Amino acid sequence: MRYQGREVDIEGRVRLVMESALTARDRVGVQDFVLLENYNSEAAFIENLRRRFRENLIYTYIGSVLVSVNPYKELEIYSKQQMERYRGVSFYEISPHIYALSDNTYRAMRTERKDQCILISGESGAGKTEASKKILLYYAVTCPTNDHMAILGDRLLQSNPVLEAFGNAKTLRNDNSSRFGKYMDVQFDFRGTPVGGHILNYLLEKSRVVHQNHGERNFHIFYQLLDGGDDDLLITLDLERNPQNYRYLVKGNCPRVSSISDKNNWKVVMKALPVIGFTEEEKLLNIIASVLHLGNTQFGEGEEGDTYITTETQTSNLAKLLGVDGSALREALTHKKLTAKGEEMISPLNYEQAVSARDALAKAVYGRTFTWLVEKINQSLALKVHKDSSVIGLLDIYGFEVLQQNSFEQFCINYCNEKLQQLPFVEAQRHHFHPGVYNNCQFICLTVYIMLYVPLSRVFKCNSVAVFQDEECLRPGETCDVSFLEKLEDTVGSHPHFITHKLANGKTRRVVSREEFRLLHYAGEVNYNVNGFLDKNNDLLNRNLKEVMCQSDNQILSHCFRREEVIDQKRPEMAATQFKNSLMKLMEILMSKEPSYVRCIKPNDAKQPGRFDEVLVRHQVKYLGLMENLRVRRAGFAYRRRFEAFLQRYKPLCPETWPNWHGRLVDGVSTLVNHLGYKAEEYKLGRSKIFIRFPKTLFTTEDALEYK
Ligand code: ATP
Ligand code: MG
Repeated sequence: MRYQGREVDIEGRVRLVMESALTARDRVGVQDFVLLENYNSEAAFIENLRRRFRENLIYTYIGSVLVSVNPYKELEIYSKQQMERYRGVSFYEISPHIYALSDNTYRAMRTERKDQCILISGESGAGKTEASKKILLYYAVTCPTNDHMAILGDRLLQSNPVLEAFGNAKTLRNDNSSRFGKYMDVQFDFRGTPVGGHILNYLLEKSRVVHQNHGERNFHIFYQLLDGGDDDLLITLDLERNPQNYRYLVKGNCPRVSSISDKNNWKVVMKALPVIGFTEEEKLLNIIASVLHLGNTQFGEGEEGDTYITTETQTSNLAKLLGVDGSALREALTHKKLTAKGEEMISPLNYEQAVSARDALAKAVYGRTFTWLVEKINQSLALKVHKDSSVIGLLDIYGFEVLQQNSFEQFCINYCNEKLQQLPFVEAQRHHFHPGVYNNCQFICLTVYIMLYVPLSRVFKCNSVAVFQDEECLRPGETCDVSFLEKLEDTVGSHPHFITHKLANGKTRRVVSREEFRLLHYAGEVNYNVNGFLDKNNDLLNRNLKEVMCQSDNQILSHCFRREEVIDQKRPEMAATQFKNSLMKLMEILMSKEPSYVRCIKPNDAKQPGRFDEVLVRHQVKYLGLMENLRVRRAGFAYRRRFEAFLQRYKPLCPETWPNWHGRLVDGVSTLVNHLGYKAEEYKLGRSKIFIRFPKTLFTTEDALEYK
């Protein structure tokens, strides 16, 4: 017998195989954490990640969950040839890859005729958006298509740069941070050809339009326009090239980012717009420019405490760009209209109120234009009415976030993560009901685990978000924020996961200030500052500003600001309520689909290749729940495979199943494993899958196949 060119006897061959497997394992770790001998050890887990990371092996499985570590450098693993390697190949037969997950999901959708979704999680900068783009690209390149559908593939791909230009920004954590949540459905017909798509967007971080922290930027599109727009365009829009001239762009003192070419990205966006069926380019550019001009609109204070605009010429240009009447705009920026006892009254705004009305307008204009853009993209992707179609959903949503100062945005983001974290356990629970697979003891472990995570979501669901709906919210201001905090204390103060500065014995706690409350999230503790909380939740725009905007002759704006909104005096929905509702819908969507998970890890805070910061990684392993994931996986059965797949792969190993098995699938699998000598405790047969407890069993079978 020959082995690697040498004559060896059987014993020698086995030894060689073992040795080479061992040394390879030492160097590159195991490709599935389930194979770790010491699977309870977090240190072993992290060591395995580190070894693989060092070898540029950024992907590792925990069963069917894909763990991905951001390499912060381009790897040669995403080519078309690589895509071909992964087509139609099972997880276990080839090294872990985002393409393997994409392909498995696609095949599951086709063979099981069930909608799928891929949930991508991880903290800011961990690689979620890059992962979702790679999945899309995989489908666009490998799925069957025709000329007509190739256009759709193009649109799916081209929607990305546009959405990123408007929805992403440079932050301290990520030069291209998504500041909105995104769920995208890709629809396939019965042939597996992509035929349509749909995007749902969540909670754009609008406050960024008017303010950025030090070292951060506003949304990319502003810098792209200033850097990439040609001279004539900038003259038409009355803009100067230097971003430092715009108050909405200077707060972070970071006009340029070395890793970003605003000029090139501008070209990419301009090319992408027509592909996604966009013809209103000029109107859109007017809006972007108007936001910059709004930021430069300044106010002076009169002796009576009234306010006037000091930047007159700017305001005339602004009105032109917004397509509204100049004097009406001036009036609306400095006055408010009230209705008391059926009578309308106009009262002047003081300086602070005028500034906040201006900022509210900028946020509303930008935020609504973003939503319009998503609608526009959806029209171009248009979900089709197809009898036999199925979808794969991709969720790329902001990860758990703890900043130095946490406000309303972080509260919503973390709430969202809290909810999504529950999803796999609901799924695990579902699996429990698979006949006879989990025994009682394992069931208890699982339940305790699920219970651990439930209480906090109860705080959210029943209390704090409901507190928002209180009328308190309609009268914003600092005192109001404090009374909101008091109200929160009254309602959820006794909850063990909720902490304020007050101690039960009347003393005060120092770790939480008077303006903060602390929540003990599944991923760690976060202090939320209540200043501005209610303002952000109200997200109110003065009625007279709305009136002006709905008369705009820019059709994008008149679409965004509807006349009905002004006529209808009903209290608008609070931001938190809107968010909560859209999140509940999202949960329903996800629950109706078969989920796959990608867990992204950020190896260091410096955005550098080759650096693996153990403390940082350990924290993420913890809050992504990876050890629990592994334990659940090990406690149950390490591998699950559909009968067809199992038979198809291993049928050569048994004379009765080779070349084809003609009876029931379950009997075929049973015959096969009997022949292979599987012991009863090693496996279980479910409804449509075989569950194998120990990886060793599967490996022995794989080896048998290899040396057949
Ligand atoms: P956020 O929550 O802030 O949006 P994110 O998880 O979406 O963060 P990405 O924008 O996907 O993070 O990744 C951040 C950066 O890391 C990318 O711009 C890219 O430079 C790098 N990166 C991520 N994944 C990969 C990868 N697979 N290969 C090479 N570089 C990557
Ligand atoms: Mg992102």
